[in-house]
Amino acid sequence: MSVSFSMLGLGTEIINALVEQGYEQPTPIQAAAIPKALAGHDLIAAAQTGTGKTAAFMLPSLERLKRYANPSASPAMHPVRMLVLTPTRELASQINTNTQNYIKHLPLRHTVLFGGVNMDKQTESLRAGCEIVVATVGRLLDHVKQKNIQLNKVEIVVLDEADRMLDMGFIDDIRTIMRMLPKTRQTLLFSATFSPEIRKLAQDFMQQPEKIEVAAQNATNANVEQHIIAVDAHRKRELLERLIKYLRMPQVIVFCKTKQSAEMVTRDLMSRELSVSAIHGDKTQQARLETLAKFKEGSLRVLVATDVAARGLDIAELPFVINYEMPTQAEDYVHRIGRTGRAGANGVAISLMQADEEKMYHAINALTGNHLPVSRIEGFEPHWQIGERQAAHTAMNEQENKQESKRVARVRRQNQISPNKPYQPANVTINHDSVLQNNRRRGRERRTCALFQANFGVHF
Ligand code: AMP
Repeated sequence: MSVSFSMLGLGTEIINALVEQGYEQPTPIQAAAIPKALAGHDLIAAAQTGTGKTAAFMLPSLERLKRYANPSASPAMHPVRMLVLTPTRELASQINTNTQNYIKHLPLRHTVLFGGVNMDKQTESLRAGCEIVVATVGRLLDHVKQKNIQLNKVEIVVLDEADRMLDMGFIDDIRTIMRMLPKTRQTLLFSATFSPEIRKLAQDFMQQPEKIEVAAQNATNANVEQHIIAVDAHRKRELLERLIKYLRMPQVIVFCKTKQSAEMVTRDLMSRELSVSAIHGDKTQQARLETLAKFKEGSLRVLVATDVAARGLDIAELPFVINYEMPTQAEDYVHRIGRTGRAGANGVAISLMQADEEKMYHAINALTGNHLPVSRIEGFEPHWQIGERQAAHTAMNEQENKQESKRVARVRRQNQISPNKPYQPANVTINHDSVLQNNRRRGRERRTCALFQANFGVHF
């Protein structure tokens, strides 16, 4: 029997909002987390963006806070009851948008605080009174310093993407904020990995937390077909254009390793008459949000992004992701391909691998427990063989390789993955024809695509 939202203990106001959103049934993380959070437990949950984790913490919290819902205009009637801390502005803004959708039928107020924009509007909404505050750490502390916000009535705190916040160096700020909160409260911590630092944080600030691990974290990504294409570096730009145009990608995120290459790829695609824009660390917050909005409404076909800028992006039903360059860390590959195949939809992730990126390809296989087949495209055959550099590299850099294996083993341990179990995504089937079927299902591509049909499946 499948689980429904009403079976989880959510009230009609929230259920109705979910129906309007088109949510039919809870995702695994929601089914596991909602009843426990409703019961008031502290939770530590392993879940990444794309698994439905926002609703997993927001829905039970709204249900618990709805007893405070009131239409009064008085700020005193709307103290901050819930605080959601996030690593990036984009994630904060996405959580706020989701909250807006879930809260529709409840007279509770919510707002979002992030840096890079003027504080006045944020101050205004805080002063007017607001039960739910979604914030990046730095900007929240700015408001605390200016006494724009009182945290003494907070009952629920969420640390979202806690591992990311620690990676970004926010640990001291998080601790400062946690100390400002009332001792009696519910703490919900979401993190993709469980490093010793995360465990320490949980130990210091949580009360007998219940742990939630959803094996089906893999299920979302099992919907992602993964293709690795070996190609020479100087042919990548042309191949990128071919893939976007020949596969008639309605929309795609193209990942680059650096801001510079993101800019270069953007200019190149522009000159090839594709509607494209980039988000990376050198863009202003305003520009990033505008680009994202355009991409979401569909008026932009290609979004070029670096790893940091793309963290936590939630774009519904994105059919394609292309790794123009392999990431610097194998974990980022998992995050990148998680941009597609979200919440049950199908997706395709294509990685363009040049000779010196082969090492990363092996690291990705080691981390995910997969053996992704490598393909080549006719007319773009590389002038190198897989394994050739790796052999030389192994001989030269045994020490470095040992360190990398240790690091991978550590990540697997932190994620509590047994050495024999694939990490994520699990056993992805590479089915080349289904690339086309995916497109057909979306009703956007009815032609046969010669590029994939003729050339995929040519493995080294
Ligand atoms: P998140 O992991 O919170 O970033 O959510 C990823 C995407 O899945 C968002 O676009 C949500 O709107 C969507 N989503 C979350 N829960 C469900 C659900 N139960 N059914 C359908 N879509 C969902």
